[in-house]
Amino acid sequence: MNNIITGKVHSFQSLGAVDGPGLRFVVFLQGCPYTCPYCHNPDTKSYSGGEEYTVEDIVKKALRFKPYFGKKGGVTLSGGEPLVQAEFAAQLFEALHKEGINTALDTAGAYPTQAVKAVLRNTDTVLCDIKFPTDEQYKKYIGTSLETTLAFVEACNQADTDIVIRHVIVPGLTDGADSVKAVAALAKRAKNLSKIELLPFHKMCMEKYERLGLEFPLKDTPECDAATIEKLKQYIQDI
Ligand code: SF4
Repeated sequence: MNNIITGKVHSFQSLGAVDGPGLRFVVFLQGCPYTCPYCHNPDTKSYSGGEEYTVEDIVKKALRFKPYFGKKGGVTLSGGEPLVQAEFAAQLFEALHKEGINTALDTAGAYPTQAVKAVLRNTDTVLCDIKFPTDEQYKKYIGTSLETTLAFVEACNQADTDIVIRHVIVPGLTDGADSVKAVAALAKRAKNLSKIELLPFHKMCMEKYERLGLEFPLKDTPECDAATIEKLKQYIQDI
């Protein structure tokens, strides 16, 4: 039998429609080691915040929403970086599957340790960010190596997990045709790639930075418009 462990939760979202298939109960876990300059959840990054919940607590909450999930919906674990708490995530997804609840993991990837592989055993869909196309950019902007994300994608292949690759388009940083093409080429490493989503950079998070007394690194960067996303979609269409 598993030991009872608790997870540190930043917040919950009752019925989200953008973090995985169908309507979803989204659990934002606390803590993230990465340094994405466009991070829209800076309040989830610290390891000191959040509230402790058991697996049972969260399953109980999720069961209340089960009637609304329909055929596709379920629970999404997001963050922060949910794989920082991989042991907890593994136990939670196992318990949710026992209740017949679909699971999705919104992650930037992590080195596939035993705990991370255990999460994937009960993950129906992975939403994996590829932040930049090169290792140099990963080291400069994210504080990790591209290899970590690629090793994670390979672990998803081994586990036969469906993947959506997500990529944020930031004007002047990731909006070049070659950059998007290179990300699409990396995304193709995912055996069960269902789609690539290009997400427009926005600054709705500015207020959060101000409240935290932090400077938003991209405060002077313009937001990405819908026309740019439409134009860049041509480079991912043959996926
Ligand atoms: S991985 Fe997510 S939570 Fe972590 S810094 Fe990047 S955008 Fe923010």
